[in-house]
This record gives sequence, structure tokens and C-alpha cells, in this order.
Amino acid sequence: MNAPKIAVVIPCFNEEESLPTSLKKLWDCMENLSNKGKIANESLIFLIDDGSTDKTWEILSEAHKRAPEKVKAIKFTRNFGNQAAIFAGLKMINFFDVDAAITIDADLQQDENKIEEFVEKFNEGYDIVAGVRENSEEYDFIKKQTSNLFYKLINWLGVNIKPNHSEFRLVSKKVLSLLDLYRENNLFLRGLFYELGLKTAYVNYSIKERKFGESKFSLSKLLCLASSGIVSYSTKPLRIIFFLGLIVAIISFLIWAFTIFVEVGLNHDINAIEPYEIWESFISGVQILSIGIIGEYVGQILLEVKDRPRFLIDKELL
Ligand code: UDP
Ligand code: MG
Repeated sequence: MNAPKIAVVIPCFNEEESLPTSLKKLWDCMENLSNKGKIANESLIFLIDDGSTDKTWEILSEAHKRAPEKVKAIKFTRNFGNQAAIFAGLKMINFFDVDAAITIDADLQQDENKIEEFVEKFNEGYDIVAGVRENSEEYDFIKKQTSNLFYKLINWLGVNIKPNHSEFRLVSKKVLSLLDLYRENNLFLRGLFYELGLKTAYVNYSIKERKFGESKFSLSKLLCLASSGIVSYSTKPLRIIFFLGLIVAIISFLIWAFTIFVEVGLNHDINAIEPYEIWESFISGVQILSIGIIGEYVGQILLEVKDRPRFLIDKELL
């Protein structure tokens, strides 16, 4: 069997500090794999500049100039987010007739040395090979806890995605060709790839510290992604608020019936103002929460109905 032609797809948002080192490391890693006959010599790196405002595009242009056949890049008109950047890269790489694409972050926190193992699994016939993070010391407390909570919640809601796997994965040509069938605006790639139902292998890796620059995933971006993931793949929250409403209504009825019984039936004046106030503020909380949850779904419907482009390309180096 011929060595597969691989594309390494990298989303980049203001990565001027990381890219010079990352590109060199990745280049060396690919040269090494190509020399060992593990990947085809025509394998390439595809970078997506997600609307950076620093020197990212200059660095990518320079890298393309040095090896136009092996380094390709596009630049978005503005920041569309990491999911849109990865999606765009995977869609565009389809035109280069690759056998598989591997997505990895620009800071190479996810260990480029695992690419060899990914390719081995691909050769064994897996369509998706996903990297699973086996440590999380490199993440701060809040990020670690929100990540744990997110996976617990989404699994409980019935979306069985594997905990601790991020956008470090290999997907086969077959997967790339299926992406056109997905028209949604709210991208949550972990859910999308899981939903395909194709043969998936998992490879453990240790996450490294980010050596240069800061994380480009703010807590608010992370929470938006988590909420988008849940709303895209589960309608269970809507059912939960329906039952919550039902329970609140039943309890309210019981309290009302009890008060009538005591005050009219037993002719006994009960002073129930305080418990009522607590109960009312609880109901207000439930109502606001419920409206918020419904709002998330309505917001997503609005965005899907508008069917705006998921990304816009400003410049290309192909
Ligand atoms: N990224 C992106 N658009 C964004 C935010 C991040 O393309 O709006 C890229 C970023 O350049 C990096 C990857 O997504 O290649 C993961 O981001 P980062 O390493 O900052 O996230 P963390 O590892 O802290 O979760
Ligand atoms: Mg990172």
C-alpha cells in the first residue's frame, strides 16, 4: 500500500508568537514521516488565518513562499471562530485529493509526535482517529472544571461523545466528502464527527504547556461553544423544563389546597407569607432559567434560518 497523502489542518488566530516554532516542528515531523515512508511526500500543511490582527498572515505568506506546494493558507475576512476555521480547512483540503486530514492547534499543545500513530490507525482502516487528553494539569482550574462539567452534562443529556477529546483528530477522505451534507451554522465538530457513526479509534496523548502567547479561547468563547454543542445535539433541556414546570405546578396546587383546607376547613389562620415569598422567588428563578434555555434554542433556530455563510475568505495562498 502506498503511504497516504496527509494534510495537517491548523486554525490560527493571532498566533504570531507560536507559529514560527510550531511550523518548524511540524515541518520536521512531516519530513521525518515522509522519509520513513509513513506519509506521502506530497503531504501538506493547510493553515486558516481566522481573522488575525497580528502578523499571523505575514508568517503564513512567508512559509507559503518558501514551499508553495507544501504550505497552503487562507485568511478569513474576520474572526469566525475556531470551529468555522477547522471546518473551512477540512472542506477546502478536499480539493487537494488527500487521503486523510489531521487537525491540530497552532500552539502544538497536542503533541505532533502522535501523528504517526494516527496514520497507523488510519492504515488499519479507521475513518476517524481522535486524540484523547490523558492529563489536564496544563489547564487552569476554571477551564479544567468547566471542561469536566461539560462532558458530564452532555453525556447525561444523551450525547455520548468521548470525554477529553478536542480538535486533535485524523479524518479520512470519506469523512471529508460527507462534510458537504452538513449545512448547519452552529458548528460543534466533536458532535458532528461522532454523529457520522464511522469507525473511530482513540489515541491517548499528554497535553503540553502552551509555550508562546496566550490561549485564544476565552472563557466566554468556551461557554458559547459548550452551549452550542448542547443545543445542537440534544433537545433534552426542553423536556427537562417541561417537567420542571409540571412539578412546580403540582407543588403550587398542593400548597394552595393545603392553605384552603387549613384556613376554611379547620378555620385556622396560618401566617404563610414567608414560605410563600421563598416559593415565589424560586418560581421566578425557574421561569427565567426556562426562558433562557428556550432562548438558546430560538437563537440557534434564527441563525440556522438566516443561513448566513459560515466563513468568508479574504485571501488565499493555494
Ligand atoms: N483559534 C481560532 N479562532 C479562535 C480561537 C482560537 O482559530 O477564535 C485557534 C487557535 O489559534 C489555536 C486553536 O484554535 O490554534 C486552539 O486555541 P487555543 O490554543 O488558544 O485554545 P486552548 O488550547 O487554550 O483551549
Ligand atoms: Mg492551545
